[in-house]
Amino acid sequence: MACLALLLLPVSLLASEAAVVPVDADPDVQELTTVDSDSRSAETPVVEEVPADTVAVDEPPVPLADAVVTAEGQAAPLLLLDAEIMPGTAHRLSWAATELFEGVPVSTPVLAVNGAMPGPTLCLTAAVHGDELNGIEMVRRVLHEIPPSKLSGAVIGVPIVNVQGFRRGSRYLPDRRDLNRYFPGKLNGSAAARIAHALFTDIITHCDALVDLHTGSFERANLPQIRADLRNPDVVTLTQGFGSMVVLHSKPTTGTLRHAATLAGIPAVTVEAGGPSQLELAEVKHGVKGIETLLTTLGMLKKKRFWGDPEPVYYRSSWVRADNGGILLADVSLGSTVRKGDLLGTITDPMSNQSTKLYSPYAGRIIGLARNQVVMPGFATFHVGIETDDVLQEVAHDTEQKPITGGYVDAMSE
Ligand SMILES: [Zn+2]
Repeated sequence: MACLALLLLPVSLLASEAAVVPVDADPDVQELTTVDSDSRSAETPVVEEVPADTVAVDEPPVPLADAVVTAEGQAAPLLLLDAEIMPGTAHRLSWAATELFEGVPVSTPVLAVNGAMPGPTLCLTAAVHGDELNGIEMVRRVLHEIPPSKLSGAVIGVPIVNVQGFRRGSRYLPDRRDLNRYFPGKLNGSAAARIAHALFTDIITHCDALVDLHTGSFERANLPQIRADLRNPDVVTLTQGFGSMVVLHSKPTTGTLRHAATLAGIPAVTVEAGGPSQLELAEVKHGVKGIETLLTTLGMLKKKRFWGDPEPVYYRSSWVRADNGGILLADVSLGSTVRKGDLLGTITDPMSNQSTKLYSPYAGRIIGLARNQVVMPGFATFHVGIETDDVLQEVAHDTEQKPITGGYVDAMSE
């Protein structure tokens, strides 16, 4: 497997050398910076700390090989799913996770472009949650616009990973399992574990880097953003390739494709954009622009796109939760900048006509929010990316950690 090729960018987002220090002792911050993964319950927050020894303070950044520059000779055929894709060609393949599902053959397309020049293999996956549509369109647009003759390396796109969920308009598999809690999967495990295992062995192991595309869940929408474990220098470098896209430090949940791929030595990030069950053109375009910028940054395409002016990196974030049930109406929109104490929205009890106002506990930016809807107490409503100058401390905060507690696991996003 070729090494991931990355050009060194102006390192305004640099976190690769960020020391991980113990979470500070502010109890208010600790509680509020926790994100549980069951959005419909008001569970006791779980505060997880990054072990202080995860990254040594003096450890130098891991150097990344520039495979595009150092790649010699000619591009090789890409062997994928029993097909041989010659350099300079694009193919549409078919992948079946299991031969039969509910007695009916189930397969999903895999788009592969093998460039005329050698280089790394970048993989794009979408609709691991079947109701997340924006990523499907991003994969289609990116893959069909790559000229194979001008590509260095290969791009593999799986636009609809969870085809069973997609057909039913559901986030889950037919057995209500969340596929994105079962990677890297198991040959003889549950249906979810088998599908995960098949995807991982058939496709993901061919990748040098992975971008997994998601949206918010359950009537929540996310500002286009990259979620990445910024304690991993390779992952940090990958995030720097997207140009102007918000980056949120996020330690991946066990079982997610992002987590499993990175553990297998394949740097992976999640791109979140918009909400489920809708096709949102602005979010799709934003994601496509970021991915095409990444292809340029990786040296895989020349000047396809370059998108400067990096957005801020948020090392910490907090979901503001509803304390009362009722009708939620927002006073801010995605991307809004807020100050501490700014009004975020109002929840009105339709019976008593009593209203409760939600205020921002932090200065920051609205990077995710619940669409206007009926909410119950504990519902996560507004996701504030918290601005901070103290990078070294803030990288220690995790923003999405929750152990698997059973077959049914909700998540804020991926
Ligand atoms: Zn998702």
